[in-house]
Amino acid sequence: MFTKNMSSKIFRAVILGPPAAGKGTISRRILKKFNCDHVAPGDILRLHIEKNTRLGQQAKRYLQEGKLVPDDLVIKLVSSSINEIGNRSWLLDGFPRTEQQARILQHSDPVEFVINLKVSTQLIIDRAKNRWVHLPSGRAYNIGFNEPKIPFKDDLTGEDLIQREDDKPEVLEKRLDIYWKTMQPVLDFYKNLDIVYDFSGKSTDEIYPKIEKFLTERTICCSKAALNKG
Ligand code: ADP
Repeated sequence: MFTKNMSSKIFRAVILGPPAAGKGTISRRILKKFNCDHVAPGDILRLHIEKNTRLGQQAKRYLQEGKLVPDDLVIKLVSSSINEIGNRSWLLDGFPRTEQQARILQHSDPVEFVINLKVSTQLIIDRAKNRWVHLPSGRAYNIGFNEPKIPFKDDLTGEDLIQREDDKPEVLEKRLDIYWKTMQPVLDFYKNLDIVYDFSGKSTDEIYPKIEKFLTERTICCSKAALNKG
């Protein structure tokens, strides 16, 4: 809670986490609570493709093939987004994905800390196995908790629920494997700088409050002038 004696400090952070670890939900909660900008190259690239810009034309085939966009393209994109933000906090999501990206960013716009979501592979696989979605609306249900009223049917429309292809254990295991192969060097790079903060837990509801506390401590500073007056 902010009081009149407190002012807010900006932060420059990266959020990292394996697929299906809840990174999207946690990022949304951070943005809602803290006055910060979200820089997600995947979203920006999709927008460029939709608008058919030059960048969009260059990036399109990589996204279609599920390959990483070349470093120089994506670095340019992120730098210009960060420049536009100016003197406000930012949270990078989906960048860096290579050590080279991390190095270049650290040189131009140093990251102050990395929020590293630590969720065990087994937990991710179990959670995804029990997740059923209503595709048209995106409503998701979980077997064991938050179950639909009628098994495998959407509560509102009564339509069938399905399992997303990328939630299936064999597909997810492959994605997790790729994640660790590509992201370990990035994590090691930040660990060497001693700026990685791990947050673990069994659910987003357990992890998020720890992140909120951490960010609150980082962003609230008591201004001396305000204290003297107060
Ligand atoms: P996903 O988590 O499914 O990869 P994203 O929205 O983060 O979703 O990324 C979508 C696509 O955008 C990636 O498959 C890749 O082609 C491209 N992309 C996103 N971030 C980067 C990055 N940091 N470096 C290179 N390519 C990226």
